[in-house]
Amino acid sequence: MKTMNEINFKGKKALIRVDFNVPLNENFEVTDATRIQSAKPSIRKVIKDGGAVVLMSHLGRPKGVEEKFSLKHIVSKVSEVLGVQVKFVSDCVGEKAEKAVAELKMGEVLLLENLRFHPEEKAGDVNFAKQLSKLGDIYINDAFGTAHRAHASTTIIDQFFPNNKCFGFLLAKEIESIKKVLEEGKKPVLAILGGAKISSKITVIENILDKVNHLIIGGGMSFTFVRAQGGKIGNSICEDDKQKLALRILKQANEKGVQIHLPVDVVAADAFSNDANTQICDINKIPDGWQGLDAGPKSRELFNDVVLKSKTILWNGPLGVFEMENFAGGTIALGNSIAEATKNGAFSLVGGGDSVAAVKQFGFANKVSYVSTGGGAMLESLEGKTLPGIEAMLK
Ligand code: AMP
Repeated sequence: MKTMNEINFKGKKALIRVDFNVPLNENFEVTDATRIQSAKPSIRKVIKDGGAVVLMSHLGRPKGVEEKFSLKHIVSKVSEVLGVQVKFVSDCVGEKAEKAVAELKMGEVLLLENLRFHPEEKAGDVNFAKQLSKLGDIYINDAFGTAHRAHASTTIIDQFFPNNKCFGFLLAKEIESIKKVLEEGKKPVLAILGGAKISSKITVIENILDKVNHLIIGGGMSFTFVRAQGGKIGNSICEDDKQKLALRILKQANEKGVQIHLPVDVVAADAFSNDANTQICDINKIPDGWQGLDAGPKSRELFNDVVLKSKTILWNGPLGVFEMENFAGGTIALGNSIAEATKNGAFSLVGGGDSVAAVKQFGFANKVSYVSTGGGAMLESLEGKTLPGIEAMLK
C-alpha cells in the first residue's frame, strides 16, 4: 500500500474518514479542536496537490437522527482550522450526498453529516459502505480513535478501494509510534501505568511484560499490589478480588526480568476531597481512615530516576487524583521527568484516556514525542490486538 506522500491527488476526490468526535458546549461550540487539528495535514496535502476532500465522521452516540449530534455545528470550526470555507451536506449517503460530491470542485472541502445517523454505520453494513464508497476516488483512513471498531466507514469500506486507499498522516503516525515502543523500542524500555483500577488494564500489563525492561505501577492501581504483599493501605482504593492477580503479575515480571517499581510513599488524605487534611506516609503504613491520593516525594524521586535512564517511555494513566489540585503533584512531577528524558533523546508516547488529559492540562503535550489521539484504540493496541480498521487497510 502506498503512503500519502507517494500519491498525487491532483484531480482526485479523496474520501477521508476522520475522527471529528469533538466535545461541544451547550451552545454547540467546539471546546477542544485537537482532533480537527490532527486531521489537518492529510486534508492540506490533498488540497495542495490539487484534489478535493470529502470528510466523513461520527459525532457522539445518536439514536437515529438527533439534531444535537449534527456535524453542521462544527463546520465553522473546521473551516477556521483548515483555512478553507468548508461545505456541508445534510446526509452522508444517497442522492443529496452524491450530488454535493459531484458539484465539489478541486480545492474544496465537503463535510458529510454524522455517519451514525444511520445505524448501518455501527452495524458494519456492506451495502451502506458501498454507498459511502461512491463519494470518492480514493479512500483515506485517518481516524485512529475509531480504528478499533469494525464499522462501515472504518473497516468495511476498504474492500471497495482495493488499489486506491492509504492511511492518513495521523493514523500512520499513531501506528509508527506504537511500533516504536512495542516492537522497536530502544532499551531500557519503560512503561508507566497509572489510573484507578487494575481490572481495566490487566491485558495491557500482560502484553507489555514481554516488551519492557521497567514497569512503574502508580495511581489507584498500586494499592492492590501493596495490600497483596501485606501492606496496610487504610481506606485507599483497592480491588480485593485482584490481589492474587497482582501477585501473579509480580511473579511473571520477575521471571521475565522486568523490574517493577511501585510507589514507596503517598500523599494520604482523610477524605476524597481537595480540602481534606493530608499527610505523607509510607505506602504500606497508611493509617485507617486515610487514603492515598497521590505519589509521595520519595516515589516521585524514585520514578524520576527510572524515567531518566530509559530510552523509550510509554505513559498511560495518572499517578494520583490529578483532577484535584492538591493531588496533582505526582502526575506533574512525572510529566516533568518524561519531558526531561525526551529532551535528552528518549522517545516518549503518552496514550489512552486520562494521561492525555493530564499532559494537555499541565502543558506537557509539546514536550513529549507523541500524544496519541485514541483512548480505546490505544489501549487495544497496547493489549497487542491488531485493530480492525488497520487490518482491513493492510488486506
Ligand atoms: P483510568 O481511567 O483507569 O486511567 O483512571 C484514571 C483515574 O484514576 C483518574 O480519574 C484519577 O483521579 C484516578 N486515580 C488515580 N490515582 C488514584 C488514587 N490514588 N485514588 C483514587 N483514584 C485515583
